[in-house]
Amino acid sequence: MGMDIRTIMVMFSMLAFMFFMLFMFLELAGLHVGSIRGVRQWAVANLCISLGLSLSYFYAYPMPGSNWAIVLGAMLIVSGISLQFTGIQAFKEERSDWRIVLLIICVALFQNVWFGVLYPDISARAIANSFLFSFIYAACARALLIRIEPPLRTAYWFTGLSFAVLVLVMLVRGVVIWRSLPESYGIYVNTPLNPVSFFTACMIQLCVTFGFLLMLNYRLITDLQKIASRDALTGALNRRRLEEEATRLKAHCLRTGDTLAVMMIDIDHFKSINDRYGHPVGDEVLRRLADIGQASIRPDDYIARYGGEEFCILLCSTTENEAWELAERLRQDYAQFTLIVGEKSVNITVSIGVVDSTFIGLEFASLVSAADQALYRAKQAGRNQVVSYSSLS
Ligand code: GH3
Ligand code: MG
Ligand code: MG
Repeated sequence: MGMDIRTIMVMFSMLAFMFFMLFMFLELAGLHVGSIRGVRQWAVANLCISLGLSLSYFYAYPMPGSNWAIVLGAMLIVSGISLQFTGIQAFKEERSDWRIVLLIICVALFQNVWFGVLYPDISARAIANSFLFSFIYAACARALLIRIEPPLRTAYWFTGLSFAVLVLVMLVRGVVIWRSLPESYGIYVNTPLNPVSFFTACMIQLCVTFGFLLMLNYRLITDLQKIASRDALTGALNRRRLEEEATRLKAHCLRTGDTLAVMMIDIDHFKSINDRYGHPVGDEVLRRLADIGQASIRPDDYIARYGGEEFCILLCSTTENEAWELAERLRQDYAQFTLIVGEKSVNITVSIGVVDSTFIGLEFASLVSAADQALYRAKQAGRNQVVSYSSLS
């Protein structure tokens, strides 16, 4: 293998520096303003790795003090990889494990000063560093190879598997040097181990960086999808997304012959709640109602904020009778709900109209219109009640 290890180091040092700038641009572009964290750590990690690799260049030109430069280089690389780990934790909205990082840095400092300066032993130093690197890489792989929804899973697993390969590369490197003892080992001795393991590690480190960018990209996409499909106040689905789900369920019901039920919920005298307690209290009532609604439906059902204080629930494989029973339970839950405002308590009631597709077909607009008619009847009949479309005459 004719690869020169110095060229590899310089090349990857420059690439890492470019990735540092890329992550910094992303950070400065305001990504941190959203919910995404970890980008800053990945930026600094690349800077550390870049500087660390360039300092390791002193291997080539031993001079007074170069031992310390090599120790510093190794420390920078260890810190860079550790920052990748804390960046992953921050990205996952977990608290960063700084104690582990501190421990790793202390161990790295101790063994690099010991074998690098006090009792120079380049083989022992290389073995210890290889095992230490594989330990941090394993922590990164473990943090990423987890169950998570697609498409983020693809990015997590790609990055996690890259880290797992790095673990293997470092373990093999450590074991090979260990087995070759007591032959003298040196970073520039004529063995393919160094260029091969350095080149492989640097290439996979590039894959890791691409993996981080992929994670970032997928997170942005899923965040945007969430924003585009949810009502900002209550977190329930918005009308557009509900209509999409209704179209999907219509196709499903046509295939299976299942019925689709729709429930329209409207808060009684909501305007007077706003007038009496103010809009923020009205907003809180809306939020709590959405939560109660969400908690009482199955995972396959959908609740959406249909209009101002109107919610719509879409129930798959449900008859009008079953929808009526659920609606009645919901009505009672809502009637029992009390919001404390200062010294006063706010109670609300709702009126609900229900229908299923056997009466009106699977067209969503027709189902909503029929449920609305039933709801209107519930209002006329005195509010705080559930009316089914089939009972209208
Ligand atoms: P009814 O029993 O006939 O349904 O009476 P109502 O007062 O609930 O009905 P109306 O349609 O007259 O009033 C709806 C009110 O909902 C008026 C509007 O100010 C309020 N509203 C709509 N959207 C929001 C919102 O996002 N926040 C708050 N606080 N109020 C809202
Ligand atoms: Mg209304
Ligand atoms: Mg109302």
